[in-house]
Amino acid sequence: MTLARTWSVGLAGVSGAVVEVEVDMSAGVPGVVLVGLPDAVVRQSVDRVRAAVVNTGASWPMRRITIGLSPASMPKQGSGFDLALAAAVLAAAGTLPADSIDGLVLLGELGLDGTVRAVRGALPAVLAAARAGHGTVVVPAGNAEEAALVDGVDVLAARTLGDLVGHLSGRTRLAAHRRGPLPPPAPAPDLGDVVGQAAGRRAVEVAAAGGHHLFLTGPPGAGKTMLAERLPGLLPVLDERAALEVTAIHSVAGTLPPGAPLLSRPPFEAPHHTATMAALVGGGSGAIRPGALCRAHRGVLFLDEAPEFPRATLDTLRQPLERGQVTISRAAGSATFPCRAQLVLAANPCPCAGAAGDAACTCSPLERRRYQSRLSGPLLDRIDLRVELPPVTRAAWMGAGAAPEPTAAVAARVAAARAAAAARLAGTGPALNSQVPGRLLRERWPVPRPALALAERALDRGLLSVRGLDRVLRVSWTLADLAGRTVPDGDDVAEALGMRLQRVAA
Ligand SMILES: [Zn+2]
Repeated sequence: MTLARTWSVGLAGVSGAVVEVEVDMSAGVPGVVLVGLPDAVVRQSVDRVRAAVVNTGASWPMRRITIGLSPASMPKQGSGFDLALAAAVLAAAGTLPADSIDGLVLLGELGLDGTVRAVRGALPAVLAAARAGHGTVVVPAGNAEEAALVDGVDVLAARTLGDLVGHLSGRTRLAAHRRGPLPPPAPAPDLGDVVGQAAGRRAVEVAAAGGHHLFLTGPPGAGKTMLAERLPGLLPVLDERAALEVTAIHSVAGTLPPGAPLLSRPPFEAPHHTATMAALVGGGSGAIRPGALCRAHRGVLFLDEAPEFPRATLDTLRQPLERGQVTISRAAGSATFPCRAQLVLAANPCPCAGAAGDAACTCSPLERRRYQSRLSGPLLDRIDLRVELPPVTRAAWMGAGAAPEPTAAVAARVAAARAAAAARLAGTGPALNSQVPGRLLRERWPVPRPALALAERALDRGLLSVRGLDRVLRVSWTLADLAGRTVPDGDDVAEALGMRLQRVAA
């Protein structure tokens, strides 16, 4: 046999496509030719594969070897093709029976000593193999738990190339990897830990119920970060499809926590304001990696000290947040990632951010204004909820008043409100109030005129734009859903208006 073929998977973003790996051997000057748009890492693959084959005890054929990766038009990135290349070369050389690899999908990077190393993106790769109708995939042992999340595929875990050669030549067997019971989701931080801050607690509850973006301002220590961290816990646990989608993104990003192959809780990402654009949105050299924005898909993207982020960076977030996906282009190709994340911005009232509060602040009014204007209007305009947190009082710290409500109680109200919204919106596309187009909202679910009196006055006085009014209406519906009302009343509109017009103290 001088021709052999097997399969692997190429990834663009989180979507995978099965790649056919063909190896042909012919007489001539010994050497290897690789065709089919491989990137630099794939080209180096030949050297790794050769070393791994030799160190496994097999001999490297001294022939002219042509390796074809197809479809040729699709760019091939990363080191995940190593294992398929090695198997195909050995089959073409007659070391392995060619039919042993014909239907197989192989993923994995090879170390020079023949160990099979885990790769990024194993989950979306195995999903792609299953969709293409392949029944068996061989993955690195380090990716086995993740790969076994995919139904309808036998997952064989290989630790070394020697394991694989033994299995394919029928001498030993790789056991199919069965997924263990999924561990319960790790406990999330509880809202019961947040002392005082009635307005802040209300804001995260409303944000969770309607999927609204949120802007928190307040002095350091007021609990902005604590509140933001507790928002994912108020969101419903991800269903299986959503969990697989989120896990696939983290698989490509290389951020799957060990021992928790399926991410079933909405993620929380909090990039620092010094993060590069690539870290925030996505990019990197070689294979394109999703940034914090994409890793926050179906969860929360928290930007603390938001005015410290470069304005251009914040502006970059606007469109992806609106569309729910982002496309990142590099010389090697482009990749699209979903990024339907809820944005939480936090800011101190001024650049000095005196922890003691306004009394210790040394900033001039001009400095304060300049600091606040660093947040771009267009991004801020898309935020429905703006809440100012007062400093936590000593009485609250000392435990005056009732114990704060825990996450479980608030999450139950959020779930009921979401169910009410979903029932009302059924058949129109969106399932959350924050996603309803303004026109549809006004035409299909008009709020009674008397309830709108306050909002109309704000509009007349120029305190509210027409787009702003739509946002007030969306929040009003969320407040009504939380209260169990079938339509917002004047109080709901007034509260929504208060959460919209709240400005950073000047
Ligand atoms: Zn200050």
